[in-house]
Amino acid sequence: MQHRYFGSTGVSVSILGYGAMRLPTRTGGKVDLDRAVPLLRQGIDLGINYIDSAHSYIRGTSEVAVGVAIKSYERESLYLATKIQIGSSYASDAKSWLRKLNESLRRLDTPYIDFIYFHDFHWREFQDYVAGRGKILEAARRVQAQGLVRHLCFSSHDSVTNVIKLIDTGEFDGLLLQYNYLDRHNTPAIARAAEKGMGVAIMGPLAGGRLVRREVGGSGKDHVPGVKAAQLGLRFVWSNPYVSVALSGMNDLDQIEENAAAADQAEMSDAELAQVQPLVEQSKSLADLYCTGCGYCMPCSNGVDIPGNFEIYNQGRMFDQLDRARQAYDASIAEEARASACIQCRECEEKCPQNIRISEWMPRVHAVLGEGQPYP
Ligand code: SF4
Ligand code: SF4
Repeated sequence: MQHRYFGSTGVSVSILGYGAMRLPTRTGGKVDLDRAVPLLRQGIDLGINYIDSAHSYIRGTSEVAVGVAIKSYERESLYLATKIQIGSSYASDAKSWLRKLNESLRRLDTPYIDFIYFHDFHWREFQDYVAGRGKILEAARRVQAQGLVRHLCFSSHDSVTNVIKLIDTGEFDGLLLQYNYLDRHNTPAIARAAEKGMGVAIMGPLAGGRLVRREVGGSGKDHVPGVKAAQLGLRFVWSNPYVSVALSGMNDLDQIEENAAAADQAEMSDAELAQVQPLVEQSKSLADLYCTGCGYCMPCSNGVDIPGNFEIYNQGRMFDQLDRARQAYDASIAEEARASACIQCRECEEKCPQNIRISEWMPRVHAVLGEGQPYP
C-alpha cells in the first residue's frame, strides 16, 4: 500500500481510503455490525489507514461501525475523517455544530477526530454559517485548540469557482472532491488546493460504481481486456500527483483486496493511460446525466426509483445496448417505480449533489426505454 502526505499536515495517508458510506445494512437501514466491522478491519489489515465516514451516513450508524472496528488498533495508527452538514436544516450555528460533533465523537468512540469536514459545503454556507453569523468557524478553532479535532476540511459539489474561493480563504487543511476519468471538472480546484498545501481526498473514483458495473444485466466483462475496471478507475485518479487519497466505498472482501492490490501499483504508466483513452471517449456519453447512484434524492414521494431508472438508461447508452436496456426497464423496475410515474414535483432535485434536473430527465428516460424512441 503506497502512502502520500495529506498536504502539509505532516500526515502520511494510505492512497486508498475506506469510504464507510456503503457498508452492509440490516432491514430497517441501519448498519449490520456483524458484516461491516470485519470488512473495515480487512481494509485496515491490508494497509488502509484513512477511514471516511459522516454524521449522516447510514442513519448515523456508519460512525458506530468505524468506532467498533478501530478498537483493535492503536488509535494513532489510523486517521479518522467524518463530516457534518452545514445549513438551516443541519448545523447552522456553533451550538448545533458542536452538538453534532459531540455525537460523532461519541459514536466513533474516540477522544479526537483527525479530519473534520464541512459536508457537501457551499461558498454561501461558508459565508452565512461558518465565517458569518453562525460563528461555526470560531467554535471549530476552539475545539481544535482543545485537541478534539486535528484538521479542518470540507467536501464540496459546489462550482469550481466557489471551491477555489473556499480554498483561497486559507482556513482549511484539506478537501474532498469528486474526480474520475469520466468527470474531471474539478482538476483546476485539485491543483489549486495542492498548491496551497491542502490535502486532497477524492470521492467517486469509480463514479459510484458505474465504472465497475458494466453493461445492462452486468455480463462482468472488463472495459479493457485484462484490466480490472475498478483498478483502472482508481489508478487513473492516483495518476494525478496532487491527489493524496482516493476513497472507495467497499462492501465486500474481494473488492477490498482488488483495490488494495491496485494501491500497490498506484499511478499508471503513459502506455496504460493511452490504453484507457478510448474508454474515456466512450464514457463521455454519460457526462450529461451524471447520476452516481448515491440515492440522496430518495425516497421519491411518488415512488419513482430515480437511480434505478437512470442507471438502466445510462448503461444502455454507454454500451449501445438499447434493446437490453428496454428489457431491463420492463423486467426489473416495477411499473409504479418507472420514470413514467414522475409527476414533476421537483422535490427530489434540491437533494441531488450533482444538480441533475431529475423532473426533466424522467420523461426523456421513459420516451427512450418505455416508448421506443432513440437516445437523443
Ligand atoms: S420530480 Fe419526479 S422523481 Fe422527483 S420526487 Fe417528484 S415525482 Fe419523484
Ligand atoms: S439523481 Fe442525483 S441524488 Fe439521485 S442517485 Fe443520482 S446523483 Fe444521487
